[in-house]
Amino acid sequence: MLYSVKMRASRGGRRGVGGRHISGAERIVPEERVDEVAAAMLYRARTHERGKADFMQVRVEAVDPAAIRYCPLLPVYDRAAETAAEGRRAAREELIRAGVSAQAADAGIAALAALPDSMRGAMVLDSETGERLDDQKERGVRCTNMDAADSAGYDQLMAARGLGGDHPREALVLASKVAAAPGAVAELCWSDDPQYVTGYVGSPRYGYGRIPVLKEKGDPVGGRVFFVRPGTDMVAYVRYMQDETVLVEVRP
Ligand code: AMP
Repeated sequence: MLYSVKMRASRGGRRGVGGRHISGAERIVPEERVDEVAAAMLYRARTHERGKADFMQVRVEAVDPAAIRYCPLLPVYDRAAETAAEGRRAAREELIRAGVSAQAADAGIAALAALPDSMRGAMVLDSETGERLDDQKERGVRCTNMDAADSAGYDQLMAARGLGGDHPREALVLASKVAAAPGAVAELCWSDDPQYVTGYVGSPRYGYGRIPVLKEKGDPVGGRVFFVRPGTDMVAYVRYMQDETVLVEVRP
């Protein structure tokens, strides 16, 4: 049996409501790993760079095996960039190569750059017009309920490629689920972690294109944009993102 383990931590709210988000994580693991994974998440919540959490919640829930779907892990490639401006130019090129119109690519980059504070989820934009399609405002659409199918195999492979650690792992697993969504064209992401300036453009066509600099160091605002084909059924899309359990497989 597999279990979903989710953690969220915040500061300054009341019983976790209304505070500033500090940290969140999720894994899907066999029963015998639940304790270890939950303890690691609590440690991470207590020591996060964004500040000291005063509320931490861990939720453990069995996953119905019949409801699990699988998708391939995106292949990783690198784009060079030395400044945030160069990185954003590279992101624009990658988005267009993946099938996003120039207008929509510009709209997505501008929308992320203009965010006054980080969102919890992603903006969903039409890949042709750049129009925002979700009605989630500052919250955005969350992609949840995913993990690597073979955790140990995944860690081994990624460590060998210099992509070990929680941050790359979570981003790559999330990007793989996002790229397998109905209507997916591409994704743009840069982190809200002030010290982590690396971001990526993900797409079902080319994979996960790492871009070493997409924002200035010290900038605490990050976000994601999911670009979808015109006419994508948003109700089905949001259901896939939030409710479907997807395990990401390393396929030869
Ligand atoms: P992170 O890479 O964790 O620093 O996240 C960067 C930004 O991506 C956040 O500020 C959110 O806007 C967005 N984000 C983080 N997690 C998710 C998620 N599970 N689904 C959709 N968007 C997310």
